[in-house]
Amino acid sequence: MKKRITAKTHLKEILELGNACSRKNNCCKHGSGFLIGDDLKNISKFLKIDEERLEKKYLEEKDLFNKKILRPRLKTKDKPYGECIFFDENGCSINEAKPLQCKVGNCSEYGEELSAWFLLNYILDKDDPESVRQYALYIKSGGKVLEGGKLEEIIPDKNKLKKILGYEILR
Ligand code: SF4
Repeated sequence: MKKRITAKTHLKEILELGNACSRKNNCCKHGSGFLIGDDLKNISKFLKIDEERLEKKYLEEKDLFNKKILRPRLKTKDKPYGECIFFDENGCSINEAKPLQCKVGNCSEYGEELSAWFLLNYILDKDDPESVRQYALYIKSGGKVLEGGKLEEIIPDKNKLKKILGYEILR
């Protein structure tokens, strides 16, 4: 039976579910995972290059739900999808230090839920109205919503939520 993933599911359990991925590296052929917490430091240590050089040579900054966030560059330039720069014929060349999102995974049978969990726990900023508005658009366009991830669960104050969505609260 499929496990129930909610916004509050513990990271440990999420990583176990991510491990169930068939690991055929499909994700790595079509994109890369976002860096969270100590990922930058860990990859820098693993590759034995300083963080500044790592960022310049291998990473790119993306704007996600109004948050600036790093991910490994793609080999394809000017395309939103393509092979991760760290992917080679043996798989992930930084496997021991790969970004948290790669560990969480997004292509197992729990793919949609895992992506939604990552978004809720590491990307969405409930204190940033623009982030909340972009999350509302994500939901409107059919994005997966976990238990604990409904707009009214994120911003329980109905009046405040209405003002955020109506651009009456800008920041
Ligand atoms: S860092 Fe590794 S696991 Fe993550 S997308 Fe790149 S090759 Fe794949």
